[in-house]
Amino acid sequence: MYYNENTVIYFHGQFVKAAEAKTDLYSQSLHYGYAVFEGIRSYPINGGTKMFKGKEHYDRLRHSAKVMRIPFEYTTEKLMELTYEVLKRNNFTDAYIRPIVLCSPNMALSKGKESYIAIETWEWTNGYMSNKMKIMTSSYRRPNADAFHVDAKVSGHYVNSILACQEAKDNGFDEALVLDSNGFVAESSGANIFYENDGVLYTAPKGNILPGITRATVIGICKELNIPVEEKLFTPAEMKGADAGFFCGTAAEVVALSSLDNVEFKKNWEDSLSYVIQQAYKCKVLEKPFQLQEQVA
Ligand code: PMP
Repeated sequence: MYYNENTVIYFHGQFVKAAEAKTDLYSQSLHYGYAVFEGIRSYPINGGTKMFKGKEHYDRLRHSAKVMRIPFEYTTEKLMELTYEVLKRNNFTDAYIRPIVLCSPNMALSKGKESYIAIETWEWTNGYMSNKMKIMTSSYRRPNADAFHVDAKVSGHYVNSILACQEAKDNGFDEALVLDSNGFVAESSGANIFYENDGVLYTAPKGNILPGITRATVIGICKELNIPVEEKLFTPAEMKGADAGFFCGTAAEVVALSSLDNVEFKKNWEDSLSYVIQQAYKCKVLEKPFQLQEQVA
């Protein structure tokens, strides 16, 4: 359950009970997916709570609204302040935060006239990190970059994610690997992808993906640890049977892949560089020092 009778959200300029919040049924946001949103994590730090890269997330929210021509006046600083207030009112430290910018009533396929934001949050302790995912190449392709602003986090794009993710689950897999319209690996339904071969990390370049904040963090970790990382176009065939692979995203964090289309990754996860990156990511979000173990150095 995402909320109960005590849950507080920020909505239409006020802090209100989630169970009592009301919206209209006549907007393009509901009918056509014309809304933008974010997914942010906060972690328990120093007896309080801290959003990981909250500024980057709210900057991206404002970028998403701008390219979608949704008027949105809030500054990143104000959004951060409101979010901390929502966390405080709910007494959450380990949480997932979901701000969404919705448009006022209008269904005429015109650009937004007015918008309002809902900031919702629920408690979240990550169970993903310890899992290993079996993934399949999806029969669905990512939205075409000529048809959508794929670098924006737009609600309507996620209908494609639902199709891909559910197809994978119906076929006994945990997640989908979704290709771009040219047949190159793009991302999963809700995370970016990396694979590892012979000590080098590879990830899809910007252009046909949501360029994740976690992806940027992982690239930063690779630089810090002197792990070579290359952004390049690649096919599922190139990735199949590689040493290791992982998805990364704000909610998923860094999650190991066990196989792609039933072809196992070669290395023991714990022996891979990807595992080192996963551990370093965990330390980074929790603001703990990370020490590289000697056998992987
Ligand atoms: N790709 C898609 C399609 C996503 O939904 C997400 C999650 N926001 C990501 C990648 C990863 O982005 P981030 O690391 O910014 O959460």
